[in-house]
Amino acid sequence: MVPVTPPSSAEFAILGAGVAGLACASQLHAAGRSVQLFDKGRRPGGRVATRRLEGGLEFDHGAQYFTARHPEFQHWLKPRLAAGLVAEWSGRLVSLSRGVITPEPSPTTRYVGVPGMSALAAALAGGLPIHLADRVTRVERREGQWWLLAEEAGLCGPYRHLVCALPAPQGIDLLQEHPVEFLPEMQAVTLAPCWALMLHLARPLPVDYAGAFVADSPLRWIASNSSKPGRPASECWVLHAGPEWSQATFDEPPATIDSWLRDALWEAVGCAPQDVLASSSQRWKYAIPPSPLSERFLADETLHVSVCGDWCGGPRVEGAFLSGWELGRQLVSR
Ligand SMILES: Cc1cc2nc3c(=O)[nH]c(=O)nc-3n(C[C@H](O)[C@H](O)[C@H](O)COP(=O)(O)OP(=O)(O)OC[C@H]3O[C@@H](n4cnc5c(N)ncnc54)[C@H](O)[C@@H]3O)c2cc1C
Repeated sequence: MVPVTPPSSAEFAILGAGVAGLACASQLHAAGRSVQLFDKGRRPGGRVATRRLEGGLEFDHGAQYFTARHPEFQHWLKPRLAAGLVAEWSGRLVSLSRGVITPEPSPTTRYVGVPGMSALAAALAGGLPIHLADRVTRVERREGQWWLLAEEAGLCGPYRHLVCALPAPQGIDLLQEHPVEFLPEMQAVTLAPCWALMLHLARPLPVDYAGAFVADSPLRWIASNSSKPGRPASECWVLHAGPEWSQATFDEPPATIDSWLRDALWEAVGCAPQDVLASSSQRWKYAIPPSPLSERFLADETLHVSVCGDWCGGPRVEGAFLSGWELGRQLVSR
């Protein structure tokens, strides 16, 4: 857990301590520039998250794994792999449709945080000043400087430059009252929702794979959390519903979602209902951007405000990292 530090004035205020905000802050911090991160979550990481259920079992209920195809991300990853903060996940993945299994045609190298996905965020967050568990509700511009209004800390600032590393709709909420030149581009971006269900089963699911991309089902993805490196051997599964199904059921109560997704699991896998020891669902309002922008970040040089995130040049963890990383480098060079 990163200690909560009170927000201070700095050259850069970065809203959002997900992968994009952390990557951007890392670049600035390493170059000796002063930054202050803000996040409404209790831990950094945003959608790279690990949730603890009753009984202490932990589940990766957001991002399941990440790829590292770009040389700069590979370069950042190498020492973290050596330190054991992240590891390769070599579990067998398949495609699944109503019990019919198709092997993955060309397996990709996949990585996970150890002992949970949130370890990736912790690795990025080390040494950065992050003000957690406080939602920023308003940003104001006074005499050429940015000021923020946070629910707990109140008025914070001043900051010379503002970075919004938030899902586009949340960034728009804060920026829309300012004449920011890239607002129309942000407004064109959507992020699809996702229902996630975490299940602790009494006995092993009768399958010989660690995860599956699911078709012809409310589900899009299932994974054995326990098959990832550094996790306890308990039979823990994470289920993700598809975007259309998640949108259509967005306002249903979690207990209903729990029941529907369990049934979808038994049908997809082709087995009888199994005993469940514990379960919990989570609704991600902004999960995945179906059509990210081609630009890695957007910047308004007049107002000294920039935005980054997986919806810029993304999607996914690697895209979020590269978005924040490139924005950070550009800000350092100015
Ligand atoms: C269910 C699910 C499954 C996924 N699976 C994968 C996968 O397998 N592989 C993969 O690579 N990617 C996956 N992704 C996508 C991946 O998690 C994201 O692309 C990436 O984490 C986005 O990072 P980000 O920094 O752009 O945004 P976020 O992680 O969303 O970070 C934004 C941060 O801003 C904070 N925030 C928002 N509003 C405010 C406010 N007003 N004040 C203060 N703080 C605020 C939030 O708390 C959050 O921490 C998945 C995502 C979800 C939800």
